[in-house]
Order: sequence, then structure tokens, then C-alpha cells
Amino acid sequence: MFDYLIVGAGYAGSVLAERLARDASKRVLVCDRRPHIAGNAYDHYDDAGLLVHRYGPHIFHTNSREVFEYLSQFTEWRQYQHRVLASVDGQLLPIPINLDTINRYYGLNLTSFEVEDFLAKMAEHREQIRTSEDVVVSRVGRELYEKFFRNYTRKQWGLDPSELDSSVTARVPVRTNRDDRYFTDTYQAMPKHGYTRMFENMLDHPNIHVMLNTDYRDIQRFVPFKEMIYTGPVDEFFDLRYGKLPYRSLEFKHETHDAEVYQQAPVINYPNDYLYTRVTEFKYLTGQTHEKTSIVYEFPRAEGDPYYPVPRPENAELYAKYKALADKTPGVHFVGRLATYKYYNQDQVVAQALTVYKKITGKGNGDGVKGGGR
Ligand code: FAD
Ligand code: UDP
Repeated sequence: MFDYLIVGAGYAGSVLAERLARDASKRVLVCDRRPHIAGNAYDHYDDAGLLVHRYGPHIFHTNSREVFEYLSQFTEWRQYQHRVLASVDGQLLPIPINLDTINRYYGLNLTSFEVEDFLAKMAEHREQIRTSEDVVVSRVGRELYEKFFRNYTRKQWGLDPSELDSSVTARVPVRTNRDDRYFTDTYQAMPKHGYTRMFENMLDHPNIHVMLNTDYRDIQRFVPFKEMIYTGPVDEFFDLRYGKLPYRSLEFKHETHDAEVYQQAPVINYPNDYLYTRVTEFKYLTGQTHEKTSIVYEFPRAEGDPYYPVPRPENAELYAKYKALADKTPGVHFVGRLATYKYYNQDQVVAQALTVYKKITGKGNGDGVKGGGR
């Protein structure tokens, strides 16, 4: 008899499996319908021997010391600060938009002080910041919005920024200094031996059993368990009772090039050209030295594996109906990006899973998190 059946071996499922097994001595079965652990953070060595992220670039960053210390039990880290360039009108310019982006785009030589006035003149006043268009236009004006955000967003989401919550483009700040890092979090690092290795360490416990290539629907009637932790899409759990909750998908095109370096930056965004949104060169992220280099293109899709919840009012309304059902389903805990329909980064899913763990077990803040290290 298992205490828990955990559906999904991504962050949500693996953190809970680790805590329940190691800290609460529970017997746990983790199943995943994919042939591997680590969910969308899965990485592996490709045919050329290069470490690549199968489901697109994953960069770890967090301001939470608790989350960073928790994961540090399972991996060493390689310091890494992510940088992205956007290809606009034939130039490669820093994104997030910063002082250099503005000076180079407009052919100016403004200082940090002057650029504030410049932006204030460009900005369109909005009474209320409701949509992803409002956020950008009210800060940098229409021209930069159209060059850097409008088309990228339409490509990525199949929606105009005016149809998406402000939270989507608000992920990307605007800076008046020359800081060209994508993130400014306190902790920014990559797992030294990759994400999958970190997950292997997390799941390496005698009380944890892992079944891959296994949909929980195929085993739940045969495997005795007391409670379930579900980390898949919430609408699927309820057989789409209220209709399909939209999740945005991507198609990844991986390539290996016979050259040491392929492009000038870890990621190059293509807001206005091509059908893909961005190209990632993994060696920058992993620090691997190799005579070849592997890259990935991301092509947004409406159908396919669910990757992104789509933050907009009508979807929040539909999710609220599923959440009400979930709250009324005894013995099942819904955790993670797909199950709680939240556009969460890795660290936010870890934090959410740790919170659920504390709630399930009644353990107080910080309990056990530092306890069970290797
Ligand atoms: P998932 O990783 O999706 O895991 C859920 C698992 O459940 C899956 O493996 C799935 O196969 C399994 N499952 C679903 N249904 C069933 C079923 N019926 N039976 C069995 N198994 C099932 N975050 C960052 O912090 N930094 C980044 O740079 C970053 N980049 C990203 C880039 C892309 C392209 C994407 C898509 C996401 C990115 N993220 C990034 C977000 C990150 O991937 C997620 O926050 C995190 O992986 C979510 O973990 P999870 O456990 O909630 O879900
Ligand atoms: N975005 C954009 N242009 C860019 C980068 C981002 O318009 O050059 C918008 C786009 O809507 C994107 C969102 O900002 O989906 C969030 O970007 P982020 O890089 O955080 O996306 P993720 O890595 O989660 O795919």
C-alpha cells in the first residue's frame, strides 16, 4: 500500500515525493506518462554529446533562500547570469529594454537621467494597467512596444497583447541603466550536472518508486494508495467537464552545428521575423566545452503538449470552476503549473510544493527542509 500516488515527475511531483518520503517517512509511487523524470525541466546529452534541454531553455533564478537551499541538497551549482538579445530591424539589441537598447535603436546618446524624460514623452497614459499592451505602451510608448513586444506576443500566444493579462509582458522589465541581465534575482545558477541529475538525486530514496511511460489512469485502479498528488492539467483530471482550458504549446526544433559557437548570445529573440520566437544555444547555459554546438528553435502551437497556461480573464473564470471542483475532491492535492493553471517559474513551483507539503503534514515553516540533506 502506498501512502501517496504522485502523478507527474516534474518539480511539483518530485519535491513532494522527496519531502513525503524523506521527511515524513511516507511510501510514495511517482508515475509519469513520459519516458523520463524532471518534467519540462528535463535535460539530456544529445547524439553529439551536448547537454540540451528537451523542452526549451530552463534558467534557474529565485529570490527565495528557502527554495535555493532546498534544491542545493540535490545539486551543486554553476553561477550563470542569463542574457538575451532581440533581433530588431537588423540589429541585435538587449532585451529587457535598457539604456543601450534605446540609444542604439533611436541612434541617441542619452544618459540614465535623460532617458527617463525621453520615455515619459514616448509613453502613452493609461488610467488602468489591465493588459499586456497597457504595461508596455504606458512605459516605453507605441514604437518600442510594436518592435519588441507586439509581434513576439502574437506569435507566442496567438493573441494580441491587449487580450492577455498584464502579468505576461510584465515578466520582462524596462531598465534605464545598462544592466543587460535577463533576471536580477539574488540566486541565479544552473545545476552543475544538469536538471535531470538533480531530479535523480531528489527521487533517490528507498520509499520512492518511479514508474515511467505510465498514465495514472492506467494504474490507479490496480495500485492501492491513500491519497493522490496530481500535477497534470487540471481540466484533463475532470475529463474536460466544463470544456477545454487553453494551454499554449510549442514545437522544438533541435539542431547541432559543426562549429564551436553558433550565435552571439545564449538566446536571441526574433519578435518580427520567422515563425519561431527564439533560438537558444545551450553551451552558454551549461558551460560545456565541445567542438560542436547545439541549439533549439521554439515554434508556438495551439495544439500539443501543454506548456503554458494562458493568463486572460475568460480563462481565469474557467479555471475557477475547475478549482472549485478540485477543492471538493477529497484525497487529491493539485499542485504545479498545469494543475493550478499558474504561469509559474521553476522556483515558484518548488515553493508551492513545499507549502503544500507543510499543509499536508502540518509541519511548520522551514521544518525538515534543511534536515534531510545528503
Ligand atoms: P511539469 O514539469 O509539466 O510536470 C508535470 C508532469 O506531469 C509532466 O512530466 C507530465 O508528463 C506529467 N503528467 C501529466 N499528466 C499525466 C498523467 N495523466 N499521467 C502521468 N503523468 C502525467 N522556468 C524557469 O524557472 N526558468 C526558465 O527559464 C523556464 N523556461 C521555460 C521554458 C519553456 C519552453 C517552458 C515550457 C517552461 C519554462 N519554465 C521555466 C517553467 C518550468 O518548466 C515550470 O515551472 C516547471 O517545469 C513546472 O513543473 P511542474 O511539475 O508543475 O510541471
Ligand atoms: N516578450 C516579448 N518580447 C520579448 C520577450 C518577451 O514580447 O522579446 C513577451 C511575450 O509575450 C512573452 C512574455 O513577454 O511570452 C514573457 O517572456 P518570457 O521570456 O518570460 O517568456 P518564457 O521564457 O516564459 O517563454
